Amino acid sequence: MIFKSNFPDIDIKKIGIYQFITSNLHGIKDDEIIFINGIIDEKLTEKKLTFGQLKANSKKLAFGLINKIGFKRGDVLAICSHNHIDYPVVIFGAIAAGGIVTTVNPNNTSKEFASQLKDCGASVIICHPDYLKKAIKAAEIANIHESKIFLFDENEINGFLPFLSLLSDQEINPVEYTPEEVKSTTAYLCYSSGTTGKSKGIEITHSNMVSNLTQINDFEDQINHENIFMGSHDFFHIYGLTFLIHFIIIKGASCVILCKLEFELESFCRIIQHYKVNIAPIVPPIILLLVNKISLIKERKYDLSSLKLIISSTAPLSGDLCKEFVETYNVPIKQAYGLTETSPFATAMKTHEIVDGSIGVLIPNMECKVISEDNKELGYNESGEFCFRGPNIMKGYLNNKEATKACIDSDGWFHTGDFGYVDPQGNFFIVDRFNELIKYKEFQIIPSELESILLTHSSINDSAVIGIYSDEQQTEYPLAYVELKPDKIQSDQLKEEIKDFVSQKVAPYKKLHCVHFIDKIPKSSTGKTLRRSLRAKNECVKQCL
Ligand code: AMP
Repeated sequence: MIFKSNFPDIDIKKIGIYQFITSNLHGIKDDEIIFINGIIDEKLTEKKLTFGQLKANSKKLAFGLINKIGFKRGDVLAICSHNHIDYPVVIFGAIAAGGIVTTVNPNNTSKEFASQLKDCGASVIICHPDYLKKAIKAAEIANIHESKIFLFDENEINGFLPFLSLLSDQEINPVEYTPEEVKSTTAYLCYSSGTTGKSKGIEITHSNMVSNLTQINDFEDQINHENIFMGSHDFFHIYGLTFLIHFIIIKGASCVILCKLEFELESFCRIIQHYKVNIAPIVPPIILLLVNKISLIKERKYDLSSLKLIISSTAPLSGDLCKEFVETYNVPIKQAYGLTETSPFATAMKTHEIVDGSIGVLIPNMECKVISEDNKELGYNESGEFCFRGPNIMKGYLNNKEATKACIDSDGWFHTGDFGYVDPQGNFFIVDRFNELIKYKEFQIIPSELESILLTHSSINDSAVIGIYSDEQQTEYPLAYVELKPDKIQSDQLKEEIKDFVSQKVAPYKKLHCVHFIDKIPKSSTGKTLRRSLRAKNECVKQCL
């Protein structure tokens, strides 16, 4: 059967994302503060950005991009930074100029950064000074001239100019699109592995983003301009991009930005206390940390009483943890679910209708089919793969028709690789993931990427990487099964050497949690690694966690 949203379809405006976010759906005044750089230590100064400043500065930046460095419609601008108050101005500056924004995970190595730049043909990089060295290396590999690298913040560093130098006295009229162009024009290129394979550029069109915002704007009718959000979800990830950057503006709410790459519990608590944050969209490992560190929070007397709602997304949240959190803090947790490919929201929960363990109900304009392995449509309470259809489903994977065809079928159903069921009330429950993707916190790790690095080690004959879930940490970790070359001897020292070998070549979040030696990597008759049989090796998993 086809499951439809319980909510009536809503009309989606056929306008560009710039025009949509500035259309002032909720009557925000120009002097209302939307973003604040939260003070988390003495080095950071509090900076604020009002709705009026965001509009004016983005139009001035667009003028500068076009007239000072020849940025054209359809050009790609890359942003590499942790969460920062300059992020929204740069995004909407590039969009106003008719460009496409690609967000780079600053944890990436310069090689990973360069491969994203090359894949999407970026011509301009705007980065935080912390990642300047990385950006210079990546730009060199991707053939981007150093003069096209600009910095967040106000100061020039070694001849690299702040992006503020691009701001002109003049403003442009943001590029507008016809209804057809809105559907076909990519606004954002977010990198994700998708259901299989290597990292790919997910093309999110103007229409995709406007649709997902419209869908959740109607759904989240309790959220308004009085809400103060915790800005800890990474802006470079789709959840941060859609929910914290765009949705906040639509609702006229405000977002206090946690400007750090590494999450710090005390900074998080200080921000909630100081700014009286009342909604915190966070990932399950942070919920766990809040539960585990309750005595420290009490001892330091952090006042978190302003907090009224937690929104958990991007990864599974265990029922026990959810219960423990609610008992400890007396703050409700609701879940939302989706993928980068769904821009990202597909299901969400109404704040006053929270159902334990559920990832929510279909948001407006969404349909879902749950299918069995032999492609049969299933009914209520039957588990299978979630397939979604709706206006927020990506245009496709950049320059990769084959991968796009593999996940969006001819009837427009996007096959998620997630396994779950729908109850008769329309509540969705997620059970497992079909695909091989490993999710460490909100970050994706692609097993084949680590396996190809392992194969370059002189002692290794073959390898298979799988994800193992730690209940204790509420996240997955990569574990490598390694088959050594015949003349090599298994030892703990070699295990450590292999772990270090991989760590040196990948972003820190991708490093191997542990290595296990195995006589032979199990393969199917067609040579495919049988990961499911490796997953069953419980004794290895226990040793690893
Ligand atoms: P990404 O594209 O990085 O957002 O990753 C999408 C994947 O995250 C989905 O395919 C799910 O496996 C997982 N995911 C997202 N939200 C949830 C949730 N609320 N519960 C469990 N898994 C989730």
